[in-house]
Amino acid sequence: MSDKLNDLLSFIEMYCGGVCREVLNMLMKTSKEFLDEEIASELGVNVNEVRRALYDLQTLGIVSYRRERDEKDGKFIYYWYANTEHLNQLLLQRKKLVLKKLEERLRLEEENSFYRCPNDGMRLTFDEALENDFRCPKCNSLLEFYDNSWVKEKLKILISSLREEVVNEEKTITS
Ligand SMILES: [Zn+2]
Repeated sequence: MSDKLNDLLSFIEMYCGGVCREVLNMLMKTSKEFLDEEIASELGVNVNEVRRALYDLQTLGIVSYRRERDEKDGKFIYYWYANTEHLNQLLLQRKKLVLKKLEERLRLEEENSFYRCPNDGMRLTFDEALENDFRCPKCNSLLEFYDNSWVKEKLKILISSLREEVVNEEKTITS
């Protein structure tokens, strides 16, 4: 769970910044609801930045709010909370995407043979090497055949463990 949480938080940080990450982290620790001012004072962050982060997170569907009318002045009060179910779905989508990329990568490794520059490590497919007369495009050294068996092995291990995760999570989310 904590690995999964870290994955998610770094994804969010990449997507909408550090304040989003902090806000989400705080909301996810508990099932309580918070006012934007409460989040701001807890995190020591400007309330406008917190609001912006909350709206970004809401756009992504990972936080929601419940609103109530203030009896005194008739204004709406917003209570924010993490939308955990949607979070899990979002993570699962992302894992599927990574899985697809790894599978494409494996296909590329399986369908090609590779050549490598002994000087700087640049790697080319057979076709690319042929185009360059088997010389490195950077430094002109003669390319050497590159055995990519270990790359394929590594990719296969990654793919099978990720595929297992995806299958398991699909079960828990849909049940
Ligand atoms: Zn080179």
